[in-house]
Amino acid sequence: MGRSLILNASFEPLGVIAHRRAIVLVLREKAEIVERNGALYRSEHLQMEAPSVIRLRYYVHVPHRLHVAPSRKAVFLRDGHRCQYCGRPAENVDHVLPRSRGGRHVWDNVVAACRRCNGRKENKLPGEAGLRLHRRPSTPGDGFWLRLLVGQAEREWLPYLPGAGHPRTPGPSGGHPRTPGPGVRAG
Ligand SMILES: [Zn+2]
Repeated sequence: MGRSLILNASFEPLGVIAHRRAIVLVLREKAEIVERNGALYRSEHLQMEAPSVIRLRYYVHVPHRLHVAPSRKAVFLRDGHRCQYCGRPAENVDHVLPRSRGGRHVWDNVVAACRRCNGRKENKLPGEAGLRLHRRPSTPGDGFWLRLLVGQAEREWLPYLPGAGHPRTPGPSGGHPRTPGPGVRAG
């Protein structure tokens, strides 16, 4: 199913929604089309060019997303899928202060770790296990939440995403074939 990037009236990205929802917002005049990429949306009653990026006609206030729990996926993304002790590919989430010693599952106490370091550490502090953290874990900033939310960004979205100034080359997994169309600009 196709996806559209939705922007606030201020052009600040808000998230990703299905083409169908984006079209409904446009038809109800709650949003305008900013970018298209030639993709078509078809339903029983409707066929139209699907918007790739839409912008709300009104401003919505967005609270900060600071209290999202550190899921495995989110921790791996923050830490670049690398063990924060040795740099090898990460397989586990490690609690720096072990849970058995009162460590909490919070952003500044979890790191991505390989199986070896995670096993070596067990219920010890890094120093006790002879391990050293590459950097102190912390709560990620706003741009991170957006990356987590957006996932694989479409080419037309990039100008609207912070810290995504260049097109991402699709990896061996997760990439999907796309033909970049001529960016049609509206408005
Ligand atoms: Zn390791």
